[in-house]
Amino acid sequence: MQIITSLDELRNLCYQWRFSGVKTGLVPTMGYFHEGHMSLMQYARANSDKLITTLFVNPAQFGENEDLDTYPRDLERDAAIAKAQGTDILFAPEAGAMYVEDHMTWVEVPHMAKRLCGISRPVFFRGICTVVTKLFMLTLPSMAVFGEKDWQQLAIIRRMVNDLNIPTEIHGCPIVREADGLALSSRNVYLSPKERSKAPHINKGLQVGCRRVKEGEKEVAAVKQAVRDYWQENVPDAKEDYLEIFHPHTLEYLEKIDGEAHVACALQYGRTRLIDNCSLA
Ligand code: AMP
Repeated sequence: MQIITSLDELRNLCYQWRFSGVKTGLVPTMGYFHEGHMSLMQYARANSDKLITTLFVNPAQFGENEDLDTYPRDLERDAAIAKAQGTDILFAPEAGAMYVEDHMTWVEVPHMAKRLCGISRPVFFRGICTVVTKLFMLTLPSMAVFGEKDWQQLAIIRRMVNDLNIPTEIHGCPIVREADGLALSSRNVYLSPKERSKAPHINKGLQVGCRRVKEGEKEVAAVKQAVRDYWQENVPDAKEDYLEIFHPHTLEYLEKIDGEAHVACALQYGRTRLIDNCSLA
């Protein structure tokens, strides 16, 4: 595995691959790897000839009072994991190389970015779309793999790639969870032991909603109330940021469930913001 920090070096290598018919798979990440990241690397490894994993804590997607400075980092450990998963190139650039001082161009899908996580994180998806576009331009990957953990991100990237005719196939991988149901996240290290023990109730609340839908409930308001009642009883100290039921691809909010539907939430638990989602199909 080669660790590359230079944009030119990365582009030269990847363009040679792309134009000589080598199938490349890209896994963009912010590092501090866990099994969720590994599952994406394994998927890309199994479905392409060369695996490019990128590790970049993207300043553009953090708001002013967010955790850019404290975001967990461990390059040495991450490099060992990426190598063990069969990564050919680990791209780990400096922030100043990705965003030169007078950077002023942004990629946005505002209609889909203004809802769900975008309400409390207004620059989040603009930062993600911009950095992912830059990574696509640098590596021209045949395929790129993202986790369903970040459902809104995946839906927005699919739309962006479609709208901009980017020649990359987008693949989503299922959420990897702890045995007790908590979705793996680099940010879970922020949880106190007590918070960690109660955090799985966030997913259990969503499961309550899923069951209500399976039992025939069609009113979104009633399903949301059932989820909120469960949370109120089991994790009353977690503060809801949002709980929404929406179309899985367009992200349009629903009032009635009579076709494809997805539920997603974000809760602030102590100093940790936790997100989760699942299908209501
Ligand atoms: P991050 O490093 O948090 O930006 O995540 C990098 C990629 O890993 C994104 O595509 C995430 O959706 C994905 N990812 C993060 N956590 C999980 C998880 N628990 N299961 C599956 N994919 C995940």
